Amino acid sequence: MGNRFFDTPIEFLKGVGPQRAALLNKELGIFTYADLLQHFPFRYEDRTRFYTIAELQENMPAVQLVVIPEKKELVGAGRKQRLVVHARDHTGQMELVWFQGIKWMLDKVKTGIPYVVFGTPVKYSARYSMAHPEIEPATGQNQQRAYLQPVYPLTEKLRTKHLDNRTLNKLVHELLLLARNKIPETLPHYLLAQYRLMDKQNALFQIHFPENHDLLAAARRRLKFEELFYTQLRLLKLKILRQEKSHGIVLNNTGLLTEFYNHHLPFQLTGAQKRVIREIYADLKSGKQMNRLLQGDVGSGKTIVAFACMLIAAGSGAQCALMAPTEILAQQHFKNISRLAEPLGLKVALLTGSVKKSDRKVIHQQLEDGSLSVLIGTHALIEEKVQFHNLGLAIIDEQHRFGVAQRSRLWHKNKSAEPHVLVMTATPIPRTLAMTLYGDLDVSVIDELPPGRKPVQTIHRFDSHRLAVFGFIKKQIEAGRQVYLVYPLIEESEKTDLKHLMDGYESICRAFPGVPVSIVHGRMDAEAKEYEMQRFVKGETKIMVATTVIEVGVDVPNATVMIIENAERFGLSQLHQLRGRVGRGGSQSYCILMTGPKLTADARKRIQTMVKTNNGFEIAEVDLELRGPGDLLGTRQSGMLDLLIADLGKDQQLLQIAREEAIRLLQNDPLLQKPENQVVYNQINLQRQSSTNWSRIS
Ligand code: ADP
Ligand code: MG
Repeated sequence: MGNRFFDTPIEFLKGVGPQRAALLNKELGIFTYADLLQHFPFRYEDRTRFYTIAELQENMPAVQLVVIPEKKELVGAGRKQRLVVHARDHTGQMELVWFQGIKWMLDKVKTGIPYVVFGTPVKYSARYSMAHPEIEPATGQNQQRAYLQPVYPLTEKLRTKHLDNRTLNKLVHELLLLARNKIPETLPHYLLAQYRLMDKQNALFQIHFPENHDLLAAARRRLKFEELFYTQLRLLKLKILRQEKSHGIVLNNTGLLTEFYNHHLPFQLTGAQKRVIREIYADLKSGKQMNRLLQGDVGSGKTIVAFACMLIAAGSGAQCALMAPTEILAQQHFKNISRLAEPLGLKVALLTGSVKKSDRKVIHQQLEDGSLSVLIGTHALIEEKVQFHNLGLAIIDEQHRFGVAQRSRLWHKNKSAEPHVLVMTATPIPRTLAMTLYGDLDVSVIDELPPGRKPVQTIHRFDSHRLAVFGFIKKQIEAGRQVYLVYPLIEESEKTDLKHLMDGYESICRAFPGVPVSIVHGRMDAEAKEYEMQRFVKGETKIMVATTVIEVGVDVPNATVMIIENAERFGLSQLHQLRGRVGRGGSQSYCILMTGPKLTADARKRIQTMVKTNNGFEIAEVDLELRGPGDLLGTRQSGMLDLLIADLGKDQQLLQIAREEAIRLLQNDPLLQKPENQVVYNQINLQRQSSTNWSRIS
């Protein structure tokens, strides 16, 4: 929408005016008629039917009934006083309760005549009760009434200024009357026909004032499709544009890689690793800039893939950078990659916050004169001072911890041409989310684990079984294995969490006298952390008590047990990441999830999912369902996910279709010149102009 009419400032709508307009601007981002029409209800109250008292159930949403008050009673005294109205219908009895406005209600509610009430039933002992229900005397009219009441997103401020749901509802109604027959169709006809989508005008009416559940569902489907379709179209256009304009550095010399393959390969690569390396090589030599996402579950062997790519780049005379999210990880990458690189005569350096100034200077120098081929590090890599001679390939490990902005800073580290970018993530991203978040990236997947891995056995134990768990730890240690014990540490409660960790450490030391124990947490300085980590890596300590700092990347094949304390406090993807720390050697490994006795429904689902499957993608799907995309992967800041109506967790199928259609459209009619695509052309251009629409998804 975006013709003159819909761009009218909201102030001019009857019933709004300058003051309310200012509030709507500020509180809800509603500036124009179009904005108001797109302020969709987030739920609906079901007043399509009347319930009887016998039909009431626990956990019901608000419902309406016709009841007859029989007795009014004041219970309690002073501020705790409440009004209880005992009411009945032909099926049973219930109570209506007021804590405020008691006098007024006492007077207003009469016994012996029927009332229409609307509220949320709650069961107390055997009887249902409704606190502060909406109530009005039953009339022929209001007993006929059947509708879905839209409930709009509102803020407290608006409510105090009397801009409540009912008022907003009226404003939308007013606007829809004005807009009738002015609402243009925004999807091409062939799509409407093919997917039986409701037309735009109807959809807007039904979303705000649904006649029934079916029409509402159809309206929502239509609007979601539209939103997903245009989001995808825009991403795909971006990708095409980038491919057209960018000149990739040609990296096509595989001499070094072949030498590595023939003489120094530490193990046979898996089929998936080989395939992915081929996919990346095809990009590197193509003359177009690569932007590729490499997904591979924990332990799938991404490091060696990264190294192979570095060899192609270095062999072709370009420099490489590998950026990791934490110091520990960067150090580990440095160690592994140095080991692999040494026999090939490749020069590798490490740059992190704790590298000494004098050493840093040397690194800067060698980077600029080109004598350094591979630089591994943390955020320190993207600092302004770090200048490359000719950066050809930038690899980012564990993408979700870096923002898009940081990604783009790496792009700009090469002045003459953008380096190729490979983003590696161990967090499997559900397809839908990858499409939306990284719709502009190509995706490679390592979907095969190195041979000989036994799947980790996952077990849930309540805290009351701690002794048995300790017994199990003891057996494993006696068998020569090592154990992780992980505690949650989240910012808000950092102090108490730290205390739990220290208490846990002490009780472990007490329970296992004579067994050397390491401890690592975020409050320690890098050197101490590294020292403790190393003791564990070398097998000097048998138990590692830690916070989630060990979540990513750490590799100790001899560790076979991962115990997670307060597992109910971790998100699914985090639990999965932690579990990935074990099962890296040949022996059977275990993950034990410890929880308190009481679990929320969501926590139970998380734990059950972990016990049920080791498949990271399956886990990611459940995670997306439970948490929604905003919380997943720390992507909250990404405006990309700020959809008005579609839900990436629930609308995966629709997204799939929308994306396919967007791809087909761009293939058949790249410039949107065909008459049947005129609406798409218009809509894209409007969206480009209109700040309200596009700013949300750009
Ligand atoms: P991630 O994908 O989690 O980064 P890593 O690259 O750290 O995984 O690899 C996990 C472990 O598996 C490492 O010890 C690595 O040496 C080993 N590994 C990787 N690929 C293979 C392979 N093809 N065969 C045997 N071991 C492998
Ligand atoms: Mg890794």
